[in-house]
Amino acid sequence: MIERSPRADAARVIVVGAGPAGASLALLLARRGIDTVLIERHADLEREFRGEGVQPSGLVCLEQMGLCDDVAALPQTRLRRTVFGFRRGRDGPLRIVEVPALEDGGPGIRLIAQPALLRMLCARAAEHPSFHLRMGVGVRGLLRDDGGRVRGVRLDGGEELRAALVIATDGRHSIVRKRLGIEIDQVEQSFDVVWARARLEGPLVVPDQAYVEYLPEGGFASVFPAPAGGHQIGVIIRKGVFSDLRRSGDLPELRWLHGRVSKGMWEMLERAREQLHDPVLLDVICGQAPTWSAPGVLLLGDAAHPMSPVGGQGINMALRDAVIAANHLVPVLLEPGCSPAELDAVLGAIEAERRPEITAIQALQTRRARGLRARGWLMLRLMSAILRVRPLLRLLLRQRAPFGRGQVQVRLRV
Ligand SMILES: Cc1cc2nc3c(=O)[nH]c(=O)nc-3n(C[C@H](O)[C@H](O)[C@H](O)COP(=O)(O)OP(=O)(O)OC[C@H]3O[C@@H](n4cnc5c(N)ncnc54)[C@H](O)[C@@H]3O)c2cc1C
Repeated sequence: MIERSPRADAARVIVVGAGPAGASLALLLARRGIDTVLIERHADLEREFRGEGVQPSGLVCLEQMGLCDDVAALPQTRLRRTVFGFRRGRDGPLRIVEVPALEDGGPGIRLIAQPALLRMLCARAAEHPSFHLRMGVGVRGLLRDDGGRVRGVRLDGGEELRAALVIATDGRHSIVRKRLGIEIDQVEQSFDVVWARARLEGPLVVPDQAYVEYLPEGGFASVFPAPAGGHQIGVIIRKGVFSDLRRSGDLPELRWLHGRVSKGMWEMLERAREQLHDPVLLDVICGQAPTWSAPGVLLLGDAAHPMSPVGGQGINMALRDAVIAANHLVPVLLEPGCSPAELDAVLGAIEAERRPEITAIQALQTRRARGLRARGWLMLRLMSAILRVRPLLRLLLRQRAPFGRGQVQVRLRV
């Protein structure tokens, strides 16, 4: 990874957090010659549990950035179908419904190794002398002038960096947002997700399909092929019960699933036991900050609007935020005499353009989370039948696919 040090006090923009939102926006700004410092608290981009589902709505942004060939070269899997397994009661036979990839209205859903995606974005940005990457150091606080305007950041260890604009893309637990005193207005969620990773083998897991098995007492266990190899296993649990599971000692190796998942699924997990050590919790949060900016600072991606995992939307919304932010920011930041007031006006415009899509997608995520619980099997049987036998209806469903294509047109103009 290329690492360059910024000149103190020289940055036009500081971007906090090298997730999909921060890395892509830093690239878009730096390649237009805007001095940009990207700060990532981890020393590398290798974290294991990151979202990997990139939809057409996110792919189109990467294409508009001119990254088609780079994306094609990343480790990835195209998801062609999801297989759902149902049982009536713990001992009932496993009934299977196969649903073709619903959101597939073009390039289709791809699972792309997120560390590789982020490395690629940073490597492309590093081709520009205006890009500076600081890794392994976190932002701890904000610098303000006498009028309260944010003028930069304070790093762990006390170093101070100044800039005309700070962009917080530091994720769902954003430190910058906390320092601004902004709290997320959360939509109440009823579930959390336990994640594990292992290489699974068996008839339920084939390379281009996801497998989702409903548990008789509620929730489901899902298996997705991980593009970098092996599988990601996500189990939906009732919100808040993770600590009970940990206390019970049944969390390692997903032992509490014994007797809850089908025989076939359990045997598959048993065979992978050696690799199934410490599942992690995804504490599901969904909502938006009441405002996405303050003088001198802009929140984007999960920092502004943490997404529910339903429908794999987070990366895609983060990329779309970056495109719209670049459209607004580049012209202003390239203006030699751009005033703080002009810059702040643009921050409001970015929020105004992005908020409607985020609101609509989060509402849909909430509805889908309810719908799947209440009438999953019947709905999916019906959908599966329609998708198989009626090409016209299938086409209509594709065209509506709001999870796949997004709710609005996003076009990179800079
Ligand atoms: C297990 C899991 C599965 C998911 N599955 C999907 C999926 O399939 N599809 C999908 O689209 N979304 C998925 N998501 C959601 C998706 O990963 C997020 O919505 C998306 O990554 C948000 O991007 P972001 O750039 O806003 O923030 P993040 O990806 O969270 O990146 C924030 C970055 O900021 C850094 N950071 C944090 N604090 C500081 C600090 N103080 N100083 C410096 N750096 C800091 C972090 O280290 C991180 O690199 C999933 C999430 C999880 C956890």
